[in-house]
Amino acid sequence: MSNFNACHFETSAVRGASGGDEKTGAISFPIYQAATFKHNGLHESTGYDYSRLQNPTREELEKTIALLECGKESLGFSTGVAAITACINLLESGDHVILSEDLYGGTFRLFNDIYRIYHIEATFVDTSKEDEIIKAIKNNTKVIFVETPSNPLMRITDINMIVDICKKYNFISIVDNTFLTPYYQKPLNLGIDLVVHSGTKYLGGHNDVLAGFIVANNEELISKLRIIQKSTGATLSPFDSWLVLRGLKTLHIRMDRCQENAIKIANWLKENKNIDKVFYVGLKEHKGYDVNQLQSRGFGAMISFRVKDKNIIPKILSGVRVISFAESLGGVETLVTYPYTQTHAEIPLEIKEKLGVDEYLLRLSIGIEKIDDLIKDLENVLEE
Ligand SMILES: *Cc1c(COP(=O)(O)O)cnc(C)c1O
Repeated sequence: MSNFNACHFETSAVRGASGGDEKTGAISFPIYQAATFKHNGLHESTGYDYSRLQNPTREELEKTIALLECGKESLGFSTGVAAITACINLLESGDHVILSEDLYGGTFRLFNDIYRIYHIEATFVDTSKEDEIIKAIKNNTKVIFVETPSNPLMRITDINMIVDICKKYNFISIVDNTFLTPYYQKPLNLGIDLVVHSGTKYLGGHNDVLAGFIVANNEELISKLRIIQKSTGATLSPFDSWLVLRGLKTLHIRMDRCQENAIKIANWLKENKNIDKVFYVGLKEHKGYDVNQLQSRGFGAMISFRVKDKNIIPKILSGVRVISFAESLGGVETLVTYPYTQTHAEIPLEIKEKLGVDEYLLRLSIGIEKIDDLIKDLENVLEE
């Protein structure tokens, strides 16, 4: 079986990096459920010693993700926050990081609670505004970390602007690409140093596995991260690697259908009298629509919206029948989340109120169900 790397995204997603198992011809890449590997003699190795260091199934997945993100290598972690933690491990005590203020609650907690104790300083700003970033720069700044679109307000940060600032000041640039996936957005091609993912979301795609990835081109960063990965130990298991490999095979089809449904739902929500505002990157009036068009091929399928009367929130959350009230996103199932007490519970009240992540805000992750059923479900809880 030949390697077939110079191909389109869809083909790489389906075939994976190696196109199956070379030895047996198995189309589905095998799960090497082994903790350790036998050596035939001193200084002899098959290339595999111990699965925290290398595992063939994880390696196949890492190579596949690298292909899809157009990176030299990717590294697989047990969760998205484990991948982000590995990025923080590149830093030293006394370093400073600038982050999007509107971002995944777990990322906020990592910087604000866990690593603050180790004197890694963090400033959260609206990274869609260049002047706010420039103002936040200090002598000890080392990293800029952004989500675009951001979570949950779908703010768009100009990736080229981040790359320019990071080049000028010699910072490491990191984009959390969970929401758009490499199918729609490839930050490494724009000059970003590290892409991180919660593979739990669209890459896995079926709400059945937790995973995280870092993708990079810079070999120095890659070799530092490899040492961090094997030393801190939050590596992705063989079975979970296989689940993500399987999920990836349909990534492009899922993304297209999720987005198609999301465009219809965002436009439907916009017209609803109980809704105050819809945050969706695919709406022309969305702030950042034009910037997003320049740096990505799509809008994704994440929608947030504000209701006019917060008293209808409990009714929506307990009344949905097709949609599930659950944390997380990016699966084939449509989920509704209440960021205020769920995904963004970690963020201090005054910051949440300032951002508008308040008691009026709901977030939808649109799946691939029949659009009519999704709209009917929303109609039932919104229009009585
Ligand atoms: C879920 C999520 C994470 C964390 O990923 P886990 O797999 O839950 O650890 C990080 N960033 C974003 C944007 C996410 O949605």
